[in-house]
Amino acid sequence: MSLKIVMIGSGYVGLVSGTCFADFGHSVTCVDIDAEKIERLKQGEIPIFEPGLDILVQSNTEAGRLSFTTDLATAVSEADVVFIAVGTPSRRGDGHADLRYVYDAARSVAMSLKGFTVIVTKSTVPVGTGDEVDRLVRETNPEADFSVVSNPEFLREGAAIDDFRRPDRVVVGTTEERAIQVIQEVYRPLSLNEAPLMFTDRRTAELIKYAGNAFLAMKITFINEVADLCEKVGADVQAVARGIGHDNRIGKKFLHAGPGYGGSCFPKDTLALVKTGQDNESPLRLVETTVAVNDQRKRAMARRVVAACGGEVRGLTISLLGLTFKPNTDDMRDAPSISIVQGLLDAGARIRAYDPEGTSQAKKIFDGIEYADDAYSAASNADCVVLITEWNEFRSIDLHRLGKLMATPRLVDLRNVYLPAEMKAAGFQYTSIGRGSSGAAVADKAS
Ligand code: NAD
Repeated sequence: MSLKIVMIGSGYVGLVSGTCFADFGHSVTCVDIDAEKIERLKQGEIPIFEPGLDILVQSNTEAGRLSFTTDLATAVSEADVVFIAVGTPSRRGDGHADLRYVYDAARSVAMSLKGFTVIVTKSTVPVGTGDEVDRLVRETNPEADFSVVSNPEFLREGAAIDDFRRPDRVVVGTTEERAIQVIQEVYRPLSLNEAPLMFTDRRTAELIKYAGNAFLAMKITFINEVADLCEKVGADVQAVARGIGHDNRIGKKFLHAGPGYGGSCFPKDTLALVKTGQDNESPLRLVETTVAVNDQRKRAMARRVVAACGGEVRGLTISLLGLTFKPNTDDMRDAPSISIVQGLLDAGARIRAYDPEGTSQAKKIFDGIEYADDAYSAASNADCVVLITEWNEFRSIDLHRLGKLMATPRLVDLRNVYLPAEMKAAGFQYTSIGRGSSGAAVADKAS
């Protein structure tokens, strides 16, 4: 059965989920308060970079299943299901999740409800937010017939469509039979592919999302600390990660040492979970430490570059490859590049950066840096290249050509993309992460 779905918030999550629901055969209206974003979408322009999204938006729009509007009231009045997928950034000052966008959306939805409607929170929200949404809707529109469900989203930017279509699981927080039936209908195409649809109570569903992100953030932070130790004792973190990752109880993913996690979710979600723990007198000390270690690590990366340059970068040109928090997205939110750029500018370096998709977002964040159109022009006459984001195109760089273009062939590889031996053969002073015997230690000596 095809349902009428409204997606409130047409950002990285709302636009992908809405489009995929339309592709399942439902009739989807994506709503946003950002009129410019909606206008661009109506013109067939995709406001974010997400591989494959443009084609999927186009085909579903042409099929008449997907539309865009700022008119929330009309869309909601006709809907069977309303998803709330607005942002939940860190609240300034205290690190709690800022829920004002969720609550504003909930009030607007409440005023327009007609007939039984399932209101689903897809945004990542702290435990108890569903209860508050329920209360707000009831208060705003006492006559309304509705059910509030939690359905956190687990897609990853850069692989969002595939993740949405082939999720490891779908978590649904509700115990109300009417809502369960509607949500089963929403996700029916996935159930046919045997994706587990897991029903829990609402509070548990809300917590699952935070626990999942915090666990992954801890895993990354763990391997980053092991990488530091590797550098001290002359071991290779990549081999350590492989060695432990083959153990099924540990698993290989999220064991890549790097400059510290960033992005639109882990930093704010770990912080919000820490706050929830503290508020409930049940502190999550591992997560608290993870947050602190990761913050320090991001700041330490600029110092690592300075050290690789011999302790002084004033007046040097540093070329940055990759600015986004990970490849295949244009998302710059909390990217490690932000602290690196700041640290290097503070130390007096000149910065020239290249990112395949992130430049227009980066320009909104950074002042006083130059941008190049490709890796080679970024590196031209530079004193050091720093690889920050492991975009695929950087894996196939002609290292000899790159080295020849530079004032000094020096490369700091924060993602361990290159092999120390190939860098040596190409004449580079090379520093990487956690490759004590063959990477960082040797390069540090060289510099
Ligand atoms: P985003 O900033 O890209 O998009 C949010 C959109 O909501 C914006 O376009 C904004 O204009 C719109 N909006 C805000 N208030 C509105 C309102 N009252 N009515 C209509 N539109 C409104 O954010 P995002 O990255 O898509 O994240 C959304 C939620 O999903 C967050 O809670 C986030 O934690 C969660 N999440 C994100 C990801 C991810 O990879 N980005 C993954 C899983 C979960």
